[in-house]
Amino acid sequence: KPRLIDDEEGGVLFLSASASSSSSGYGFASFEKQRQRLPVYKYRTAFLYLVETHATTIVVGETGSGKTTQIPQYLKEAGWADGGRVIACTQPRRLAVQAVASRVAEEMGVKLGEEVGYTIRFEDATSTGTLIKFLTDGVLLREMMGDPLLTKYSVIMVDEAHERSISTDILLGLLKKIQRRRPELRLIISSATIEAKSMSAFFQTRRRRGLQGEEPALAMEPAILSVEGRGFNVQIHYVEDPVSDYIQAAVSTVLLIHDKEPFGDILVFLTGQDDIETAVKLLTEEARDNRKSSSGLIVLPLYSGLSRAEQELIFSPTPRGKRKVVISTNIAETSLTLKGIVYVIDSGFSKQKFYNPISDIENLVVAPISKASARQRAGRAGRVRPGKCYRLYTEEYFVNEMAAEGIPEIQRSNLVSCVIQLKALGIDNILGFDWPASPSPESMIRALEVLYSLGVLDDDAKLTAPLGFQVAEIPLDPMISKMILSSDQLGCSEEVLTIAAVLSIQSIWVSSRGIQKELDEAKLRFAAAEGDHVTFLNVYKGFLQSGKSSQWCHRNYINYHAMKKVVDIREQLRRIAQRLGVTLKSCDNDILVVRKAVAMGFFANACRLEPFSHEGMYKTVRTSQEVYIHPSSVLFRVNPKWVVYHSIVSTDRQYMRNVATIEPSWLREVAPHFYRQDGPDAMLH
Ligand code: ADP
Ligand code: MG
Repeated sequence: KPRLIDDEEGGVLFLSASASSSSSGYGFASFEKQRQRLPVYKYRTAFLYLVETHATTIVVGETGSGKTTQIPQYLKEAGWADGGRVIACTQPRRLAVQAVASRVAEEMGVKLGEEVGYTIRFEDATSTGTLIKFLTDGVLLREMMGDPLLTKYSVIMVDEAHERSISTDILLGLLKKIQRRRPELRLIISSATIEAKSMSAFFQTRRRRGLQGEEPALAMEPAILSVEGRGFNVQIHYVEDPVSDYIQAAVSTVLLIHDKEPFGDILVFLTGQDDIETAVKLLTEEARDNRKSSSGLIVLPLYSGLSRAEQELIFSPTPRGKRKVVISTNIAETSLTLKGIVYVIDSGFSKQKFYNPISDIENLVVAPISKASARQRAGRAGRVRPGKCYRLYTEEYFVNEMAAEGIPEIQRSNLVSCVIQLKALGIDNILGFDWPASPSPESMIRALEVLYSLGVLDDDAKLTAPLGFQVAEIPLDPMISKMILSSDQLGCSEEVLTIAAVLSIQSIWVSSRGIQKELDEAKLRFAAAEGDHVTFLNVYKGFLQSGKSSQWCHRNYINYHAMKKVVDIREQLRRIAQRLGVTLKSCDNDILVVRKAVAMGFFANACRLEPFSHEGMYKTVRTSQEVYIHPSSVLFRVNPKWVVYHSIVSTDRQYMRNVATIEPSWLREVAPHFYRQDGPDAMLH
């Protein structure tokens, strides 16, 4: 049983623990001092007491106050990881998982992967001796399939709960159930801005019957601990007139700050890799053309998918006389704390998922952020001293048009993966599930429809055996999993595993800014008339033949790190497929069967070219939505008559990414229920 320890003792405990496990010992005193200066430190005793006496503790504290890095350590110091138990801390983002785990390992003076480890999809850096484990909320959900009560964990900290990611919401609903079966389990819900009251109401569990009379030692009502931050004042500046190009506006503002303001780092919030790379490029060009205005600037991008080395640069201290400019997605809004930021530039946008159950299209769009996000972003400027935030939108817009809060992801997502995971955990009544925020019934019905047509659910909406259980077992989008499992009968599993691995990463090509022509030419060397999927096979083959050479990648405008990831993910998928009884077999260039396997997974995303369209307009077969082939596809401007796509991104139009040609006759063959003869899909004739 963990002991309650006070601050003094805790310090001693920590020091002895780190001294025994550290090899260098050097620098610990300073880490210890840094830890004690964090706002959460003052609440250490109170916090440990609350955890001891409450099933659920909600911790609210400003970003940078020490929730993520300190709380797991406090718990470990208090004995919650004794006796073979593990402390888990979840994050919505993979990059944050790696970054905080490596920070905590460093503070504790241990090697990452040992006492402190992390797990993200396709990457497990833990060992049997791991006491504190950081993981994505999605990975923890997957662990429940093997261990439904998550018995190895003594405490589960659901961090960044304010983000309301889809996996966080599912997890919260399930953890509430687990708690009833495992009263000794402790939950910690932590967040930067939560409406702590609604979260608290969600976890308010009625005392069980039969326990009346006995005085329960454990309070079932959640405790709420609010950590006072020490944020400094942040001066907000608005633009006077709306800006038309926020990337250009952000770049000009960086140069203006650099010219006029005293030293201090700049954090710029843009929306995604493309935006960010453009801004980095504009600033780098400025540095080349106009040394004076940009000398001393260090420009760094920050988005998921960066290599470890690139991440490290972000966290390393800024050299004297220099000014760091970090250009980030909203990952730096609350998940990561960067030191030394004094100026924030807020574009007012982020990339968000939106799902429309009527059109059955989920896409990633650049959309306005909420007031809550805008405040978080501004707060990043006041960690070290009073700061300034430049909002690239008008005050009038902020006051009158921005929504107060964002919409939980579960209410704007396709629910196919969510439904299959709950089904696999034995939760059949999904509409009646205890959600922190209910998804729409329309989205739920769409998901059930797709899963039924994939053959994953039966007439009673139960997982089919073996297909349904197998699909649930593969940690990928059910459409990709179905494609892999279908490749078994078709005799092309080796090829399809490669395709699945490539679809699991962002892109295998280098970013196209400014080198569009060279990139297009390089793509032509691999392009297949059958579309992107077969093109990926050509690239993969070339990569292997080159001996996995980085020069070869460079010459062909292929992202070397992405290809290494593909090889790694493919290997893991191969093992999973083998475990599920898939026979590994290559079809030796019989591309027809590969295309069929793709169609067997993605038939629901079938589209037909509009006969009289000059612009390459397609319509989705099921819902008649207008879509176009994305310029990054090898089929862009080729416009074959029938295609299936992997995902949609929308900017000015809805664009299909990763497109493959199909024969229309396959649709009824592979999904007879979906594309009925007499139904609205008579256009298949
Ligand atoms: P919270 O979870 O409350 O937002 P964190 O625990 O992530 O806060 O961070 C607490 C403090 O630890 C930060 O203010 C920062 O000073 C320091 N810190 C966190 N991560 C790193 C890192 N990777 N490198 C250097 N310092 C870090
Ligand atoms: Mg945190």
